Amino acid sequence: MAIEPAARPVTEGAFSGTALRDDFPIFDTPTGSGMRLVYLDAAASAPKPRSVIEAVSDAYSHHYANVHRGIYELSEDATARFEGARRKVARFIGAPSEREIVFVRNATEAINLVAYSWGRANLRAGDRVVTTQLEHHANIVPWQQLTREVGATLDYVAITDDGRLDLDDLRTKLAAHPKLLAVAHVSNALGTINPLSEIVELGHEAGALVLIDAAQSAPHMPIDVASLGCDFLALSGHKMLGPSGIGALWGRRELLDAMPPFLTGGSMIIRVTLEGAEWNEVPYKFEAGTPAIVEAIGLGAAIDYLEELGMENVRAHERYLFERAWQTLGEIPGVRRLGPDDPDLHAGVISFLLDGIHPHDIATVFDSHGIAVRAGHHCAQPVMLRYDIPATTRASFYVYNDLDDIEALGKAVVATQMLFA
Ligand code: PLP
Repeated sequence: MAIEPAARPVTEGAFSGTALRDDFPIFDTPTGSGMRLVYLDAAASAPKPRSVIEAVSDAYSHHYANVHRGIYELSEDATARFEGARRKVARFIGAPSEREIVFVRNATEAINLVAYSWGRANLRAGDRVVTTQLEHHANIVPWQQLTREVGATLDYVAITDDGRLDLDDLRTKLAAHPKLLAVAHVSNALGTINPLSEIVELGHEAGALVLIDAAQSAPHMPIDVASLGCDFLALSGHKMLGPSGIGALWGRRELLDAMPPFLTGGSMIIRVTLEGAEWNEVPYKFEAGTPAIVEAIGLGAAIDYLEELGMENVRAHERYLFERAWQTLGEIPGVRRLGPDDPDLHAGVISFLLDGIHPHDIATVFDSHGIAVRAGHHCAQPVMLRYDIPATTRASFYVYNDLDDIEALGKAVVATQMLFA
């Protein structure tokens, strides 16, 4: 890993993003425009460090067999590596036990698992679920489907003009005693960091279980489910330097134990007769079929990489880049920035608008400068409705970004404005 904090001047917060770029082979690949790649789309999916790519290659090359079934050395080796990755995920989010970590494909599947399994076993007609207008569709549509199916009601917490959750509205929605509160830690569309401890406390006081969508926070800041006191937490590996196709659901053990299976078939049973089946214990009860073995091992390597940097340092680095980018964009006339001003309430994600220029055009011009940003509704159409806009341009930062990237962003904004003037 290209990091020597003591020897290197602190140029971008806690460590040098410039130096870390050496760890990511994607930055060696020339862009179509021939310019250096400025990757500002981590919120969609993050590039992979060499250590993750090598861990995946090594697992396929030397340690690959199916897990949990073979009575032979190679299978036991693969199983040990797969289960080792589960332990790493548990440690990374402060889970009391790796038995509480269910491997899934992504955060979307984690939330669906709760909606199908816990939701259909526990929600009845007349019950309520609360989510927010700030959510990614992954934390809206499963609750719409569930509440429609059982005849329950879905309430949405409003957002303020500067993109924060309206906590008074949260209190109002919780006064109806919902059974579940499902909320994002960080908004992918606005970058807002929600005050989780307060939200979890309010949810529990109202008698609700609290599910946290950590897809945009687990990659970027320390998470500790034990001290947060939440009940479920969902994350995606591909957003935290890991492979695609692997994610995790954490749930409190007693909840997972009581929940019926989601998918059924092999691995999730201990006995099958012609009359029926007996479920395996958690987490295997929720892992039907052959899991994403190598992807899980790759996620473990991504966690090693992030832990070596230190999640406090990752957050400090992104906070620093956010402040510089927020200021840079704020100084350019015709730029409208969305989300909170306060760097303590804003992750390394900036959604912005340029007067009179569609975000898709902006992203196309940026691409010609070698800059990758996301343009669109970011799978958060209710956020776009709230501000009466069709789309935004979104720049999102990670460990490999630096001040040169922020400067390139500012220059590209000005160049785009000149092109469309
Ligand atoms: N939740 C949030 C806040 C997200 O930003 C995303 C993806 O962008 C998701 C959930 C869904 O993640 P995935 O597509 O990996 O399931």
